[in-house]
Amino acid sequence: MTTTSQITLAATPTGPVGPSNFGEQVVPLPPLADGEFLVAVRWLSIDPTIRGWMAYDTYLPKIAEGDVIRSLGAGEVIESLNDKYPVGTRVTGVTGWQTHVIMSGGFTIPDGVDYEDALSVFGMTGLTAYVGIEDIGEPKAGETVVISGAAGAVGSIAGQLAKAKGCRVVGIAGSDDKCNWVTDELGFDACINYKTADVGQALRAECADGIDVYFDNVGGEILNAVLGQINDHARIILCGAISGYDDPTLHAGPANLVNAIPRRAKLQGFIVLDHYDRAGAAVAQMGPLLADGRLKSQVHVLDGLSSAPQALADLFTGANTGKTLVRL
Ligand code: NDP
Repeated sequence: MTTTSQITLAATPTGPVGPSNFGEQVVPLPPLADGEFLVAVRWLSIDPTIRGWMAYDTYLPKIAEGDVIRSLGAGEVIESLNDKYPVGTRVTGVTGWQTHVIMSGGFTIPDGVDYEDALSVFGMTGLTAYVGIEDIGEPKAGETVVISGAAGAVGSIAGQLAKAKGCRVVGIAGSDDKCNWVTDELGFDACINYKTADVGQALRAECADGIDVYFDNVGGEILNAVLGQINDHARIILCGAISGYDDPTLHAGPANLVNAIPRRAKLQGFIVLDHYDRAGAAVAQMGPLLADGRLKSQVHVLDGLSSAPQALADLFTGANTGKTLVRL
């Protein structure tokens, strides 16, 4: 009999996640039914949205207490009753935080693509950056693009995509080291350390011509500061609002939102799950950029299933640079 080791939701979080929110268990898996295949999970994708799934019904139902933590992941088919996914196939999909999972579908990882890229630049993360920039922000050469969470998984890719279009790209991140990485390694034009700078003042200095596009990963005060400095017809990509995910109270919205009216700005939220029809186009654009070094991808890796809770917590303390993954 095959068993799977799982990390489960022990207690719904009401603040930063910690050990008391998680449980561990080993459970048996049933025999495969027709069309199913068994995956040995090799990597987990650690994403801020998991924190939301642990606490609320959002665009997906809340994870029930006692259930395995929902998560994207990748692994290898080790048993199969599905001709499309023979033994040896490498797949990505919703694996959950566990060592083995029975699946009936998933994305096959092409030969030559490693697990890390499959879960970052060529996975949900890269697609989020691509859809935000290409389909919502639509920055043009010469425009000024501001990216928060600039040294994170989505933000680092989004900024490089805007840079490749000939924009002035200004990042916002939580340390000098992260800022140096996005300017020196990724080619952003400037980066503001929001923990030490007055963000409003720094934006006025770095975005002398105003802000045309803002890729928002954090919400809160940084969103408010940006909204005060947008140009006519600015596009605000509402991708995430991590500054509020640990806080169960709802706060009043950004005072500068009113500026969107005279500036005729567009603010658009999106959920990447609705945009998988753009995955082929995203890979077609980012593949060559990655291959010739114009797009750089960095991973923050923790080892072992039991490190997954820490990896999730890292996203909220800013311990990660680039895409956070757990290697099983
Ligand atoms: P990241 O790799 O960017 O990790 C999260 C980062 O957020 C941390 O490294 C930290 O960087 C920053 N951060 C944490 N707390 C705060 C805070 N209070 N204020 C400002 N910054 C903070 O994660 P992802 O790239 O995976 O996700 C980025 C955002 O995109 C998230 O909000 C996520 O929910 C969202 N998202 C949305 C999707 C969609 O479909 N709409 C899909 C995927 C992601 P620092 O050190 O700079 O503070």
